[in-house]
Amino acid sequence: MNSEETMREIAAKVSQCKKCELSFSRKHAVPGEGPANAEIMFIGEGPGFHENEQGRPFVGQAGKFLDELLEKSGFKRQDVFITNVVKCRPPGNRDPQEDELYACAEYLEQQIAAINPLVVITLGRFSMARYFNDAKISHIHGHASWLRGKLIIPMYHPAAALHQPVLRPTIEKDFSQLSMLVEKARSTAANQSPAAESDKTDEQNNATQLSFF
Ligand code: URA
Ligand code: SF4
Repeated sequence: MNSEETMREIAAKVSQCKKCELSFSRKHAVPGEGPANAEIMFIGEGPGFHENEQGRPFVGQAGKFLDELLEKSGFKRQDVFITNVVKCRPPGNRDPQEDELYACAEYLEQQIAAINPLVVITLGRFSMARYFNDAKISHIHGHASWLRGKLIIPMYHPAAALHQPVLRPTIEKDFSQLSMLVEKARSTAANQSPAAESDKTDEQNNATQLSFF
């Protein structure tokens, strides 16, 4: 099966999934969207109102801001893969719960393995925790770490910057570094041994940080 077929299969499983209680209140599950061979993957928190209505990620206010941030940093939304740590909307946009995150993790893991992106950008603390369990987003936002052949860049959630205007210049500054970081990741990957490049093993929480840029 090629990665496109794998991604379609994951999306089909997500749309039928009943593994956690978010399945009862959702209208549409939101598997994520973008190319199956995307170089860059964004991982948010979970669908909100508009995402639940449309079955697409980041289409509400936070999504408009994400589109703006992407465009300003020289990337096109259609070239990146965008998904969330939970694929169904938490009622009233509450935080996802431990059991929901746990139940939904297998889909995200399968997506990361199928896409094998070079760069992963986590948006907000729930996706950050997947890579940096005990970190504080106020400390590590914008700091890129090279973990098992991928560059992981934690960023504030665009919705947080909309709710707290004081964060807006910070997230804008972090995004302004993105093309430089992607370039560095490309040249680092080009110099890696084939064995390291073909390592598709998924990251673990608290994975060792091999280097910082
Ligand atoms: N916020 C998220 O974390 N994800 C979405 O898809 C939309 C808003
Ligand atoms: Fe399944 Fe994830 Fe939706 Fe829960 S949030 S029902 S685990 S797809």
